[in-house]
Amino acid sequence: MRRILILSTTTGYQLRSFGDAATKAGFELMFATDRCHQLDDPWRDAAVAVRFHEEEASLDAIVDAAAVRRIDGVIAVGDRPVVLAARIAQELCVAGNPVTAAAASVNKLATRRRLSGAGLPVPWFFDANARTTLSRDARVRYPCVVKPLGLSGSRGVMRANSASELDEAVGRLRALLSRVDVRAIRTGLDDDVLVEGFIEGREFAIEGLLTDGVLQPLAIFDKPDPLDGPFFEETIYVTPSNLEEELQSAVLDHVQLAVDALGLTTGAVHAECRVGRGGIHILEVAARPIGGLCSKVLRFTSPDSSDVTLEEVLLRHAAGEDVSRFEREASASGVMMIPIPRRGMFKRVHGVEAAAAVEGVEDVRITAKPDQLLEQLPEAGSYLGFIFARADSPKRVIAGLKDAHSRLQFDIASPIPVG
Ligand code: ADP
Repeated sequence: MRRILILSTTTGYQLRSFGDAATKAGFELMFATDRCHQLDDPWRDAAVAVRFHEEEASLDAIVDAAAVRRIDGVIAVGDRPVVLAARIAQELCVAGNPVTAAAASVNKLATRRRLSGAGLPVPWFFDANARTTLSRDARVRYPCVVKPLGLSGSRGVMRANSASELDEAVGRLRALLSRVDVRAIRTGLDDDVLVEGFIEGREFAIEGLLTDGVLQPLAIFDKPDPLDGPFFEETIYVTPSNLEEELQSAVLDHVQLAVDALGLTTGAVHAECRVGRGGIHILEVAARPIGGLCSKVLRFTSPDSSDVTLEEVLLRHAAGEDVSRFEREASASGVMMIPIPRRGMFKRVHGVEAAAAVEGVEDVRITAKPDQLLEQLPEAGSYLGFIFARADSPKRVIAGLKDAHSRLQFDIASPIPVG
């Protein structure tokens, strides 16, 4: 039986979905997860315990495990294990991204340098320390965006339209970067930030698979809500895109060029881009699939199967199968990442049944836990939950998602003041 190693930080939905796909398609999985307080195999999944910030030790642990149980492929779930996944693939001689390419893809500054070096459109940019007064830097123009190099999920990403807004944004970023929970992520890029020009335009996400560096597009998602700042909370993803055909091909060409510039070759990619008067700008190409529950938005068919999950396609691909026969299903599909309306303690939600009853809505999942502290961007980037819909057009999907969302009411108590 073919065995695939899944590297991840979480033990949530996506891992279960990989488990289901493995059972269906005849794979065995080995998990390597980074769990802070390791009990004695609490998930009973015989996962190899790793620390993504202790790369050498993690690599050794996995190589040892692979000596006993041969590994045929590696998949990174989430941004943090991307580099380790590349190192493991290299060490075990299975398909994977070059380590330098993986490292460039997870670093916003390295990404900008690679894209600009390859002649792709990039805004002006420079890196700096969050402890300096950036608004005095002569290179800054407005509007601009400031973002931490080591975080993801739009955490700490802020737009500033003036020097005073930039001062305020950097102050907020400094506070965020000093937080114990953020320091604990140990990216090694703690106070480094990127400052760059704001790129106007509509935003799109592209999901794809790389085989020998060649992109197989799986979906282009529209993000129909404007993302103009000052913070950049994603809400709706819907596919197929309503972008003109020609522009869609141009977007995919740009993603391929960005993939080449970064040197990525293998496995899932999730890219973000903006399309506006200034042309097509690739914001980033992450060497991993779309995150967590959101992967439910994608479903595939092939000449001999239907209802195939993204996880199944990824497993088959990681094992070296030709997956070009899989295409996204015909219907339009979308997800709303339910935004956090305000900071506070989550108590309960009302209206889930009414939301789930909306035409086209397939699932309403509330992932916030009672008494969990909810924080909005830019400080924290989690969601209250997710709404999924399918319909015959993207417009209907969006309408269904918004209707369902309007039927939900959240009880959020004021946070208890500290000190
Ligand atoms: P992360 O990896 O944390 O998601 P990104 O660099 O992808 O960070 O930025 C997150 C979001 O912030 C993007 O999806 C986009 O909406 C917005 N954003 C980031 N940089 C820019 C920019 N230069 N111009 C306009 N919007 C931006």
